[in-house]
Amino acid sequence: MFLTVARALWKPLSLLLVGSGLFLAYLLLKPLSPPLFTFGDNLLQGTLEAVGLLFALPILLPAGTREQTEASSSHWWARRISPGSIVPLLLACTLLSYVIGQVIWTINEDVLHLAVLFPTWADAGYLGSYPFVLLAILFLPQQRPLLSSRTRIAFDVMITVTGIVTLGWYFVLGPTILQGTASELGQLVGTAYPVSTMVLIFCLFLLVMRKNVPAMRPVIFPLILAFVVITITDTIYDYQEIHALYTTGSLLDFGWPLGYLLLGLAARALYVVPQEERQVSGQAKESKGTAEQLALWQILLPYAWVPAIGFLLLFIWQHGGDPFLVTGAVIGAVVLLGLLMMRQFVAMRELSTVHQQLRRAEQQKARAYELRLEALQAEQKMSRAFEQERQVNSLKNDFIVNVSHELRTPLTTILGYLELLSEHRGQLDDAVQATFLKQIGEGCQELMILVEGILNATQMSQEVSSPQREVVSVAHAVQEALEACDPRILQDYRLYVDVPEQLTVCADQHYLRQVLHNLLSNAFKYAPTHTGITIRVAQDKASASHVCIRVKDEGPGIPANEIPLLFGKFVRLKRDLSGKVRGTGLGLYICKQLVEAMQGQIWVESSGEAGAGSEFCFTLPSISPHRNQGGEHATTSNIRENA
Ligand code: ADP
Repeated sequence: MFLTVARALWKPLSLLLVGSGLFLAYLLLKPLSPPLFTFGDNLLQGTLEAVGLLFALPILLPAGTREQTEASSSHWWARRISPGSIVPLLLACTLLSYVIGQVIWTINEDVLHLAVLFPTWADAGYLGSYPFVLLAILFLPQQRPLLSSRTRIAFDVMITVTGIVTLGWYFVLGPTILQGTASELGQLVGTAYPVSTMVLIFCLFLLVMRKNVPAMRPVIFPLILAFVVITITDTIYDYQEIHALYTTGSLLDFGWPLGYLLLGLAARALYVVPQEERQVSGQAKESKGTAEQLALWQILLPYAWVPAIGFLLLFIWQHGGDPFLVTGAVIGAVVLLGLLMMRQFVAMRELSTVHQQLRRAEQQKARAYELRLEALQAEQKMSRAFEQERQVNSLKNDFIVNVSHELRTPLTTILGYLELLSEHRGQLDDAVQATFLKQIGEGCQELMILVEGILNATQMSQEVSSPQREVVSVAHAVQEALEACDPRILQDYRLYVDVPEQLTVCADQHYLRQVLHNLLSNAFKYAPTHTGITIRVAQDKASASHVCIRVKDEGPGIPANEIPLLFGKFVRLKRDLSGKVRGTGLGLYICKQLVEAMQGQIWVESSGEAGAGSEFCFTLPSISPHRNQGGEHATTSNIRENA
């Protein structure tokens, strides 16, 4: 954006610098004889102001800018009617009116050689430019402020006008009226000049006080500069006019061409600032009122009139003056003071409105943050549910594959023996037939166990029925679990039992027996024969209110990476999925459900090294921890070797 503006403005800017530089040199060097010099001065002023007018017209624009403005509407007048684009045309009217004034002045002074140059039609041209410039400034797009901000701005405007009028009154306006010219028209026109200067100061104030979007800076800076230059020049001119000091050809003449060239440059910049950037302020105008975010110096600017008017009063006190002028100045000072006090009140109200607006915005922000958080949580919940569903589906698949495999093995055995029996009916002796029938019976038994396991697990997954809470002797439960095992299998292992006799837990004895049975069965299933299996019970080290029961074997162990999954439904170690040992992956899952139902915890400890084995541990709430602690001394005598 900056580059586009710079590219489009460097030519007019160079023209401005060169033109005004040459004109300044002309005024300083005075290269011609007096009558010619005056003519040259007027001519150059008119020419430079006409150049300013050319800047302000939508001609000779860079191709890109022209296309951009033309694209926005088919009718040029429709494009320019928006508040942002009517401004350059109003500035062009300002310049045109001023150039007309200058041309008439030149003709009067240098061609017609009129003796009285004031008031003439040239003044109509000069004075006609001021309403246009005021309109241009009022039409510049800006943010619509809050109602309370608007009231404060209205007071700022009134204070400024009062300050300008009071100062102007004492030094320019009042003396002009007092001076009195021959004609009434002369008096009217004479008064109109200082009033116009006040209009310029007012425009300057509006420019300085407005909140300018950064994109509008190339417009606002030349405008401010133009107003400063023209105001100073006009003020000096007004003063010189009162005291009949002004002559054409003085350095003062440099001010007007420079000021109006700058005005033209500002108008040109307005064509160049991209439409959408200009729209920022336009859109803001449409939107709801916002609090003015002015700099501190902008807010304090109206108070600058206090010292200014103070100095004026001091000056009057020291030097005195016409009572007519003094009365006007004092009235102005009093009105200014009153306005300042009211402005103070309005500014305080504005502050509280802004504060409320800020609080509301903060609340809205917090609410939006909460909503976002809720949405995020909902999203996380959904993705968790999705993941759970995916896992359930995969479990179902695993289950079907696993169960079909497990069921097929005993079924194949049963079918095989049945076929043999039917094929060789009458040819087999009794002993062989009895063996075949025994194999079939064992197959059926195995099928029964499998189906029971599946049914149990399904039941568990629905809900574990609430356990009985009874005092159970752990030694007794272990005893029963061992008695339920096949004695032939027991004989194949070295069994160590280390359970204090008096140790009791609060548990459901059937559940406890089932957990022990599952863990022992696994140890017998997976650990090689002639290895040791240890059942050890003691107070839990982590919790004084729990007893820890451990079943340790010297089998292949559990790989560390599979431990976290081990107690899940239908989970079998990879190694065993294709191994000889059959299982459903439900035993440990059932153990976990039962132990947790009895307020305990279950886990496995294993280094994963073959031969180092695995130790399945679970806790249960103990009945009397103090007595149990004492019981630990009696352990060694209970070790029973069963090899
Ligand atoms: P199942 O034994 O019917 O397959 P479990 O739930 O009892 O089901 O055991 C799950 C898996 O844990 C077993 O398939 C086996 O891979 C592994 N496992 C259980 N106990 C032991 C053990 N003592 N030693 C080695 N692996 C074991």
